[in-house]
Amino acid sequence: MADCNETLAELHRYLDSELSPGRADEIVAHLKTCTDCQGAFEFHADLQRVIRVKSQGDVITPQFLSNLRGCFGSDILGSPGG
Ligand SMILES: [Zn+2]
Repeated sequence: MADCNETLAELHRYLDSELSPGRADEIVAHLKTCTDCQGAFEFHADLQRVIRVKSQGDVITPQFLSNLRGCFGSDILGSPGG
């Protein structure tokens, strides 16, 4: 069973479907039992969706960018094309 640290560390890989099926199941199992990680998961899922939209030329709201910086600092926004 994955714990919170593992779940949060692997959230991106889970969202990118890069985890093995067994590992993904562990992450899902944890998400079902942990509201903290559920919240993080939903945020990251939204984040990925918005980044994909952004890459297609649409606009991200200043409010959302502000939320991102609040959560991650500016690092995540500092590498265009990555
Ligand atoms: Zn958790």
